[in-house]
Amino acid sequence: MAAIDVRDVTFGYAGRSVVEDVSFEVEAGAFLGLVGPNGSGKTTLLELMIGLRRPDRGTVSLFGVPAAEFDEGERIGYVPQDVANADEAMPITVSEVVRMGRYPRRLFGRFSEADRRAVEAAMERVGIADLADRRVGRLSGGQRQRVFIARALAGEADLLALDEPTTGVDAESRESFYELLHELNAGGITVVLIEHDIGVVTTHASEVACLNRELYFHGSPEAFVETDALAEAYGGSQHVVHHDH
Ligand code: ADP
Repeated sequence: MAAIDVRDVTFGYAGRSVVEDVSFEVEAGAFLGLVGPNGSGKTTLLELMIGLRRPDRGTVSLFGVPAAEFDEGERIGYVPQDVANADEAMPITVSEVVRMGRYPRRLFGRFSEADRRAVEAAMERVGIADLADRRVGRLSGGQRQRVFIARALAGEADLLALDEPTTGVDAESRESFYELLHELNAGGITVVLIEHDIGVVTTHASEVACLNRELYFHGSPEAFVETDALAEAYGGSQHVVHHDH
């Protein structure tokens, strides 16, 4: 079953379309890299894909359910772009943020021993257990990204959606961050990653979607590098859709 089914989706701000007639599926267990130039509609499409925005035309389904009716938000972990720049004064601690992931899962409103274990396991999993009592506002951008991934893991998310998560993160931390995503994906979590570094996408993603308002390509990284889709999307010239299925 598709984790996300995007069907003929068009969306615009104030009547100016920024996503035009886009269709593709993300299979459960896939690692999709979403690429395209600045302003090409990637963030908007990601928000449409996880039900944060409603299409003007077309439909999105999440795990087989129309996005408008999907009510299991805890299955989707969203790490928006500005997490890395969160307010420095943010007074909340790492473990408090990760605990939030359990709220929809708690039985009878109580924070149980099982919840506590899930929070600890999630922090261990992403390598932030030693930061549990630190304030989120004091962490580096890369550490903050991990906190929000741990929150999603604590909530037993099936799908992680990340918007340029390593902007402003040093090269070494970036590499270990992508290793983590790779491992989470290998463990069965579907990953959708907006990424400007094409090398990261062709290394880690199992499929690529290339966008510039319209979809220029959807298929394997191997096929992507063989096509002209990237140059066409960045050049803004006329194109044919490359579908590699
Ligand atoms: P990308 O993630 O590829 O940089 P975005 O989806 O952020 O692209 O933006 C696509 C286009 O939509 C851009 O021209 C941007 O200025 C515009 N846009 C994005 N968000 C809004 C908004 N909330 N209101 C109006 N225009 C927006």
